Amino acid sequence: MTSLPTALPADPAAPAPDRICISTNLAAVHERIRRACAAAGREATAVHLLAVSKTFGAEAVVAAAAAGQQAFGENYLQEAVAKIQAVQTLPQSFAGLEWHCIGPVQSNKTKLVAAHFDWLHTLDRLKIAERLSAQRAADQAPLNVCLQVNMDGEDSKSGVAPQALLDLAQAVAVLPRLRLRGLMTIPAPRTDFQSQLAVHQAARALFEQVKTQLPVPHDFDTLSMGMSADLEAAIHAGSTLVRVGSAIFGQR
Ligand SMILES: *Cc1c(COP(=O)(O)O)cnc(C)c1O
Repeated sequence: MTSLPTALPADPAAPAPDRICISTNLAAVHERIRRACAAAGREATAVHLLAVSKTFGAEAVVAAAAAGQQAFGENYLQEAVAKIQAVQTLPQSFAGLEWHCIGPVQSNKTKLVAAHFDWLHTLDRLKIAERLSAQRAADQAPLNVCLQVNMDGEDSKSGVAPQALLDLAQAVAVLPRLRLRGLMTIPAPRTDFQSQLAVHQAARALFEQVKTQLPVPHDFDTLSMGMSADLEAAIHAGSTLVRVGSAIFGQR
């Protein structure tokens, strides 16, 4: 099932159809992850699922949270902050939800990221990192960050070039209020498994290379890659976190 039905159920006591749909979709994505891990000889617990809820409302987040999902990804900061606050003020409490920013961040928006998010996946400039570290409040846990790498050298995409990655990683790793957790990629779409695999393997190689050259290598444990269309190839190459939107919430 990929799209959310809009009709209300005839029986008001029945769960809303979008809830059924989201929990069914979530179970199907977990099954894809489980199979991909088995095929790659990896533990199913080695891969985390980030539910990308961008463009969907707080009720979609609540439906997924009710089905056990804890980590949510958002791209657009204004939309995200409103949604985070809406979920936090609900009478039923969803303790332990994690919010991941996966969209581009301009310097005038770093305060919102520092205040409201647990993770940022798209860090690609030292200036942004320094602002975030300065703005992260002392009573909050350090902000978890992944460096976004531009794997295809596309002008249209953000991300640090592979040649500049190590310098950026070493500079970010010593910022006090950030915790450098790994790398993130959004490769150009590829339709066949082998070419998806090749670009994910190249990212994995960069990940391993950077890891050996950091002051705290054990913190560098996250390879954020793979989306609805290519999560199998990403898991095969060593992804530890797949970011899935449409396969859970429907087409945007
Ligand atoms: C939207 C988005 C996703 C989810 O994409 P789907 O194809 O809907 O699974 C993952 N990562 C990023 C950075 C996104 O912007």
